[in-house]
Amino acid sequence: MEDWAAQAAGTGIRPLVVWFRDDLRLADHPALEHARRSGLPLICVYVLQPAQEGMRGLGGAASWWLHGALQALDQDLRACGGELLLLAGSAPDVLGQLASQVDAAGLVWNRRYGQAERAMDAGIKQRFRAEGRLASSHAGSVLHEPWTLRPDGAPPYQVFSAYWRACLRAGEPPLPLPAPADLRFASLQGLSLASRRSLAELDLLPRTPDWAGGLRAHWVPGEAAAWRQLQQFVEEGLCGYAEGRDFPGQAHCSRLSPYLRFGHLSPRQIWHAMSAAALQHRLPGQDLDKFLAELGWRDFCQYLHYHHAALESRPLQPSFEAMPWRHDPAALKAWQRGQTGYPLVDAGMRELWTTGWMHNRVRMVVASFLVKHLLLDWRDGEAWFWDTLVDADPASNPASWQWVAGCGMDAAPYFRIFNPILQGQKFDAQGAYVRHWLPELAKLPDRALQQPWTASSAQTRAAGVRLGIDYPEPVVEHAMARERALQAYAQMRAVR
Ligand code: FAD
Repeated sequence: MEDWAAQAAGTGIRPLVVWFRDDLRLADHPALEHARRSGLPLICVYVLQPAQEGMRGLGGAASWWLHGALQALDQDLRACGGELLLLAGSAPDVLGQLASQVDAAGLVWNRRYGQAERAMDAGIKQRFRAEGRLASSHAGSVLHEPWTLRPDGAPPYQVFSAYWRACLRAGEPPLPLPAPADLRFASLQGLSLASRRSLAELDLLPRTPDWAGGLRAHWVPGEAAAWRQLQQFVEEGLCGYAEGRDFPGQAHCSRLSPYLRFGHLSPRQIWHAMSAAALQHRLPGQDLDKFLAELGWRDFCQYLHYHHAALESRPLQPSFEAMPWRHDPAALKAWQRGQTGYPLVDAGMRELWTTGWMHNRVRMVVASFLVKHLLLDWRDGEAWFWDTLVDADPASNPASWQWVAGCGMDAAPYFRIFNPILQGQKFDAQGAYVRHWLPELAKLPDRALQQPWTASSAQTRAAGVRLGIDYPEPVVEHAMARERALQAYAQMRAVR
C-alpha cells in the first residue's frame, strides 16, 4: 500500500481511474480504498462491454438490474462529491483512450475469476504498465481467491466438501473495510470521449414491451437496499435457516443473490454481519454454519469458473457430450412459460418470469425437470435462466446447471431423478407457494394440488378449474419420462 502511495505521489496530480465491475459498492471495496490512500483525484468508471470471446453479454433481467445499480452507485458517489463515468465498448480500448486523454496515473480494480476476464485484465495491466502508468488489482469479490487454497501444482478440488474444509482451515475472511470517508475526485467536465454514455444511452431497460413491472415491484438495486435486505433476513430468516431454506413458502432465505452478483455487498461483509448477528441473538450454530456454507458454494462456483473455461457451453464431464438430448421446441416453451402441468415446476417458472428470481429448491426441481423429464439440453435451461434471472451469474448459473444435469463437479448423479410431485408434497405441503403462483389451482384440495390430474371431477368443478383449458395436462408422464431419461443415460455411457 505504501509503495503505491509513494509511486503515486511521484506522478503529480494526474488522476487515478477506479474501474468498477461486479463490485458496485463503496464499502469494502479494496481497489477504491487503495486508490483513496494514494491521495490522487479519482475517476470512477463503469464500462458496458459487448459480448465477446468467452465473456457473455448480460441477459434481460440482469440488464434491468444493472441500470438501477449504476444509478444507485452514481448517487452514492455524488453524495461524496464525485460521479460515475459511463463508457461503452471493449474495455481495453475505452480504458486506454480514457487514460491517454486524462493522462491517468493508473488504473485499479477488484479481480474477476473467469479465464477470459483474467486474460483481458492481464492484457490491460501489461499495457498500462508499458505506458508508464500504475495498474493494480485487488481481492474483493470472494471469501478466498481460488489459488490460495492449495499448494502450487496440486490438482484443483473436485468436491465441495473437501473444498469447504480447506476454506474453513484457512480461517475467517478478513474484516471488511468501511466506506471511505474522504474521497477526492477529478472533474469530468469537458471530458469528451466517443465511448462516453449517459445511463439512458446504455439502453439497459426493456421498452417495447416494458416487461419489467414485476422486477420493479420486487427489487431495489443498490448498496443501501442490499443492507436493508440483509437486515430483514437477520431479523426474520436467519434463525431457522438450516431447515427452512428448503421450503419455498417460508421466509428463510436471504434473497441476497442479486446483491452479491452485482457486488452491492461483498461476501466477507455478509460473512461478518451474519456471524455477529448469530452471536448477538444466540442463534443455533447450525443456522449460521449452513448459511456460511452456501456462501461457500458461491465461492466454489467461482473456483470452478477459474479452473474451467466455457463453463456455460462445455460439460465438465466430457462424456455428456454424447447425451442424446431431444429437440422439442414445444416442450421447451411449455417449461419456459410455466405450462408443464406439474404445479411445483410451473410455480417456479412463473415466479422466475414475474420476479427475476426463484427459490433454490425450486431451481433444482425445474432444472431437473428440463434435463431429465423433458430430456432437453441443460444449456437451453441455462440460457433461459441467464436471460431471466436478476442474479444470473457467469459462475453460479452454469455450475449449478451442470450440477443438476449430472455433468458438473461434485454433481448429483444423473440417475437420481427428482419426482416433482413428491418434491411439492414434501416442500410445499400446504401448497402456499403453488397457490400463490398458480391462482387457477388455488381452490384444489391439498391432496390434489401437486398432481391436479388426480382430482375428481367434483373437486375440479368445485375449484373452478378445467384441466387442459385453465391449466394444462402434464406434458409428459412421470414414470415414462423417468424411464426414458435412464435409457438415455445408459446410451450415453455405452458410447464411452
Ligand atoms: P441463500 O440461501 O440466502 O444463500 C445466500 C447466498 O449464498 C446466495 O445469495 C448465493 O450468493 C449463495 N448461494 C446459495 N446457494 C447457492 C448455490 N447452490 N450455489 C451457489 N451459490 C449459492 N445463484 C446465483 O447467485 N446466480 C445464478 O445464476 C444461479 N443459478 C442457479 C441455477 C440453478 C439451476 C440452480 C439449481 C441454482 C442456481 N443458483 C444461482 C444458486 C442458488 O439457487 C441461488 O444462489 C439462491 O437461490 C439465491 O437465493 P438466496 O440469496 O435467498 O440464497
